[in-house]
Formats: sequence, C-alpha cells, structure tokens
Amino acid sequence: MLVIWLTGIPASGKSTIARALAEKLRKIGLEIEVLESDEIRKVLTPRPLYSDEERDWFYGKVLIWLAKLLFKHNITVIIDATGHKRMYRENARREFGKKFIEVYVKCSLETAMKRDPKGLYKAALEGRITTLPGLQVPYEEPENPEIVINTEKEDVDTAVRKIVSYICNRRLIPEEYCSKLDT
Ligand code: ADP
Repeated sequence: MLVIWLTGIPASGKSTIARALAEKLRKIGLEIEVLESDEIRKVLTPRPLYSDEERDWFYGKVLIWLAKLLFKHNITVIIDATGHKRMYRENARREFGKKFIEVYVKCSLETAMKRDPKGLYKAALEGRITTLPGLQVPYEEPENPEIVINTEKEDVDTAVRKIVSYICNRRLIPEEYCSKLDT
C-alpha cells in the first residue's frame, strides 16, 4: 500500500523506529513487512564486500525489487536501510511515485559514534571495515525527504506519531485505518 524508506547514517535510529512503526501500523490493521537490509544481506551476501558495485546491486536493484513484490500485494513496506547514495532512494521514488515516503532519520555523527549499538564505528576505527557510510564513504543526505526525524531531539514515540500523522493527513491510506488510531 505504501513504501516507507527510513534512511540515515548507521546508529541514527532506523531499526528502532522501524520496529515501533511496524507495530503501530499493524495495530490499525495494515499488513506490514520490514525489509531490514542487514538481515537480508546475511542471506544474499553471506560474505559481503560492501563495495560500490555490490551496494549498487543490492540497494539500487534487489531491495527495490523486493519492495515491488510486496507492494503489489497491498503490503506496506518499511525499508530499514542506510542506502547512502541518493540515487538508490530516487530509484525507489521513481518506482512507487506518490506512494513513496522518504524518512530521513537524522543524528550527528558524534552521537551515532557514541551510540554504536552494532559496533560498526568501532570496527571502522580499528580498520576492520573500510567503507562505513557517514564516516569512510559519504552519506548523501536526502534533498527533499517527506519527513525528517531528529533522533537527538525526538524520541521513538514522537517519530512514530509524526510518520503516522503524515500518512493519515495526506490520505495515503484509507480513512478506515486512520480512524482506528485513537481506539
Ligand atoms: P540504525 O538502524 O540506524 O543503525 P539502531 O536503531 O540500530 O540504528 O540504533 C540506534 C540506537 O540509538 C539504539 O540503541 C536506540 O535505542 C538509540 N536511540 C536513542 N534515541 C533514539 C531515538 N530517538 N530514536 C531511535 N533510536 C534512538
């Protein structure tokens, strides 16, 4: 029904918000699938290279193709992926048009490095990984995201409320779902 891409540097809060958003949208009756790039990559790229070529293939093609399959069956897809090149997200925008919502999950590099729940920044600083977006390769900020969440100022509940309000206010899903929000 919709494709919502949560983008932002590692540890900005994408997965945390994706989980809470999925729970909220399921409660009002939507069918939800979260495409968590790290999880899908474990299967498709068990020995990931994190090279430009592999990322172009995965984020530019595979992820969007998976979203397309689910979207076709009226499922609302939450993409939880940094997708550091603007081009990846623009490909998705072209594919899904008005049904695409880009959510920029924003926080400073300093905060992300302090949080580091997956140890990625530590691994980068120790030289165990070499192409971490935001630190070692550029993260291309969204130019016109539908929604910006600053996770240094807005908590998870606020983030979820902001996204759901956007969807309902713009009537991107039928009213019958939004009317269940207060119950
Ligand atoms: P990402 O998926 O972007 O790599 P995660 O969601 O895995 O990031 O990690 C973000 C970390 O930041 C978590 O430990 C989470 O608890 C914490 N955090 C602190 N404040 C927020 C917030 N407002 N929104 C989301 N996560 C937050």
